[in-house]
Amino acid sequence: MPPAPLLYESHCHTPLCKHARGEPIEYAAAAERRGLKGIVFTCHCPLPDGISLSVRMAPGQYDRYIAMVAEARERFAGRVDVRLGLESDYLRNAGMTSLANISMLERMRCGARPDIAMPHTRCVTRPRLT
Ligand SMILES: [Zn+2]
Ligand SMILES: [Zn+2]
Repeated sequence: MPPAPLLYESHCHTPLCKHARGEPIEYAAAAERRGLKGIVFTCHCPLPDGISLSVRMAPGQYDRYIAMVAEARERFAGRVDVRLGLESDYLRNAGMTSLANISMLERMRCGARPDIAMPHTRCVTRPRLT
């Protein structure tokens, strides 16, 4: 007999990304109602210099993101497996600061210890300054 499937919601955002409604606790409650094993929050990784702030949190909001997900994890412990993730956008045409951007992302991934870093196929292109 094959093992039962592990059903996770594996791609969702918080209001910090400005294109989601509802708090992580509400999402976790929905996951529980629907019988999912868990849920992975994958807010867009914050980027420096105000890059695409309209669809992602600012770097200064990252700690809040971690706290929001941690609150849901604690509240639903033993019932819904709540994980911290990041949706990482590829930085193209980032000019002189590309190395700084990449190292910032790497530092954030290491420091915050997300469970999952999900590469995103969309490229974020910084406008060229003329
Ligand atoms: Zn997404
Ligand atoms: Zn998104």
